[in-house]
Amino acid sequence: MRARDEHAAKHGPLRERLRVKPGSEVSLGHFDPSETYGREREPAELELAEGLVRLGELQDRLWAEARHAVLVILQGIDAAGKDGTIRHVMSAFNPMGCPVTSFKVPTDEERGHDYLWRVHRRTPAKGEIGIFNRSHYEDVLVVRVHELVPRETWSRRYDQINAWERTLVEEGTTIVKFFLAIDQDEQRQRLRDRVEDPTKRWKFRRADLDERALWDSYRRAFEDALGRCSTDWAPWYLVPSNRKWFRNLAVADILADVIDDLAPAYPPGEPGIEGLSIT
Ligand code: AMP
Ligand code: MG
Repeated sequence: MRARDEHAAKHGPLRERLRVKPGSEVSLGHFDPSETYGREREPAELELAEGLVRLGELQDRLWAEARHAVLVILQGIDAAGKDGTIRHVMSAFNPMGCPVTSFKVPTDEERGHDYLWRVHRRTPAKGEIGIFNRSHYEDVLVVRVHELVPRETWSRRYDQINAWERTLVEEGTTIVKFFLAIDQDEQRQRLRDRVEDPTKRWKFRRADLDERALWDSYRRAFEDALGRCSTDWAPWYLVPSNRKWFRNLAVADILADVIDDLAPAYPPGEPGIEGLSIT
């Protein structure tokens, strides 16, 4: 039995374990971001290597078939590992079919539109796996925490987001949302590393410390986004991310299972070209 199947037999597939049940109350205070569900680092790294090969094959089929779009959403507090996940997991993909979009503070043009405009323009086409590094969820996270719009405005957005995501799904997009959970100690360590390491310093802004001070407000905003927007059609996966190897493994494994369910298949090719002799 492959390592992956052994763990699944004992602990249940990660996809079931980590999925946030629709309508549940999420309490991040009771969640352990160091959990690894019985896995250990070394075998997990081998398992990840296998998982990446599997993902690469699946993406090749998805791209060739051009029938389904897959939208992957990554959220998490600063230093939770959104960029690292993209680097490690998405390295499995052919970049041709894998557009990545990072959502920053909205530009003047973006602010001139509704909050879904900039994300809708970047949703993946059929055959593509589109990756969102941050997303429309910022509009119920940073926007809520900093009161950038009144409560009555942001509080309507959970239902709006669910309805919008549902439209995408009904029109052929599969949505997979990962929330990368770390704790405050882990964030402290990672922010310190950023300050100390000249190759990472560019990622650090003083304002990151102001955000860190708002930990509890962010926690509440995350809990609501996870609880209110994990739906049957667009589930959230709550990924313990203190250990980067587990985070990478979980994201790769869940993503591969989701794409596997779409059963992407190579198109047959033009009739009659089998056995064609090319001189
Ligand atoms: P980074 O991901 O480190 O490049 O930072 C991007 C920054 O943009 C973060 O501080 C986000 O909170 C901020 N941001 C993203 N979307 C929004 C939004 N809709 N409104 C305000 N700030 C945002
Ligand atoms: Mg940042």
